[in-house]
Amino acid sequence: MLGAIEAGGTKFVCAVGDKEGTILDSIQIPTTVPEETMPLVIDFFRKHDIEAIGIGSFGPIDINLESPSYGYITSTPKPGWRHYGLVQAVKEAFPVPVGFNTDVNAAALGELELGAAKGLNSCMYMTIGTGIGAGAIVQGKLVQGLSHPEMGHILVRRHPDDSYKGKCPYHSDCLEGLAAGPAIEERWGAKGIELAGRPEVWDLEAYYIAQALMQYILVLSPQKVILGGGVMNQKQIFPSVHKYLTEMMNEYVAMPELSEYIVSPGLSDRAGITGSLMLAQEALSEKEKTLNYQKQ
Ligand code: ADP
Ligand code: ZN
Repeated sequence: MLGAIEAGGTKFVCAVGDKEGTILDSIQIPTTVPEETMPLVIDFFRKHDIEAIGIGSFGPIDINLESPSYGYITSTPKPGWRHYGLVQAVKEAFPVPVGFNTDVNAAALGELELGAAKGLNSCMYMTIGTGIGAGAIVQGKLVQGLSHPEMGHILVRRHPDDSYKGKCPYHSDCLEGLAAGPAIEERWGAKGIELAGRPEVWDLEAYYIAQALMQYILVLSPQKVILGGGVMNQKQIFPSVHKYLTEMMNEYVAMPELSEYIVSPGLSDRAGITGSLMLAQEALSEKEKTLNYQKQ
């Protein structure tokens, strides 16, 4: 049995399941402060006999195994979670292998193994919700270097008619600052869901998302692009993204039929938690590899 945690800014989803991605039990816990949230997380897993735990977390996080702050959430503005040792807290309660990565990398992994990118060896998963983030798998491996990618904060060309200042506390008008849910709400003065009947809102949204996708596609060359998060419930964004991307790419790079290339998650809202199970399985396999090596 494997454990999985999808640690989000609003809620923690905890699940137990198997390496095939079948979820046997799950729970949702509000993200308040670590002192409140973590004991509930630990109580849930105490009820199960788990061999490993995978965590897909909001970030930025430290996933560099060599770093002294590996396993920590780093620069979040969320009270109480800044410089919090999430892996450490889990390991203290459960002496099992723990896999740790970003929520979007976990979702990319889930979608590659069992969702819209099944059978491929590369994909990217982008979420457009309270924030914007993306995870990517290239040649079967999660993209990781100095740290994990932070693709939500790239710079985009502002639409000539858009005078909204932007909402990112670090960069003002980066992609997240212009196109995440809170930016839509502040620019148009209503929540995303209430703006469903305003085509100009979603056309502008698609304009920014298409720019981001053009850059991701040119840099990473993913075989499938998966767009999730609350904002993408506005399905009308998809055809506009296809239109803008086609225009901007201008036939420079050949892409598959866009309605099959840029898609909703195959696992709907279970991509992140399913991918976190995969992270648990990876952590378990790593440990087994080490044990076998020591035996030889
Ligand atoms: P989170 O990013 O916190 O995990 P979500 O992915 O649900 O959560 O994103 C929440 C954001 O998405 C909010 O800004 C909300 O207004 C927006 N949102 C949620 N549902 C919709 C919808 N149906 N249409 C437009 N925007 C939505
Ligand atoms: Zn930013």
